[in-house]
Amino acid sequence: MKRAVFPGSFDPITLGHEDIITRALPLFDEIIIAIGVNSDKKYMFTFAERMQFIRDTFKDEVKIKVETYTGLTIDYCKKVDAKFMLRGLRNPADFEFEKAIAQTNRKLSGIDTVFLLTSADTSYISSSIVRDVLRNGGSFEILVPKSVRVKK
Ligand code: ADP
Repeated sequence: MKRAVFPGSFDPITLGHEDIITRALPLFDEIIIAIGVNSDKKYMFTFAERMQFIRDTFKDEVKIKVETYTGLTIDYCKKVDAKFMLRGLRNPADFEFEKAIAQTNRKLSGIDTVFLLTSADTSYISSSIVRDVLRNGGSFEILVPKSVRVKK
């Protein structure tokens, strides 16, 4: 079973994440979308909300699971027997940041990271921009899957 973990905060899931996940589906038998718990970060959405948004987005996709984890991502990958991590690349800053992490992870565990390049029409989207738009009452809906709903 070729299993990949797609780790992230997904606060909230965006069309950029959805694009990477959908395009990675033919590469793997199973993709676990893993929401990492980072106690230093303050989140806009609760874990339950973030999980629900992702589950609803991929409700018809049997190859996708949604979980949360704490600790090192490589330890989580070992626990669920995933030999690959999935990440998206938007720009040179992402590349530099991801390169060091992927090389460290491979050195420590042998787990390889598979990168997909962002699609041209979603490359500008980030969860932090979505949160900014949301906080200021803008039309965030065009940046996220339909499942992302906000309580008024
Ligand atoms: P993190 O907190 O780990 O940065 P994110 O939820 O922000 O988690 O992102 C998870 C992954 O999704 C990262 O690999 C990031 O580069 C990728 N990603 C985010 N937005 C996009 C996008 N618009 N296009 C491609 N990849 C993206």
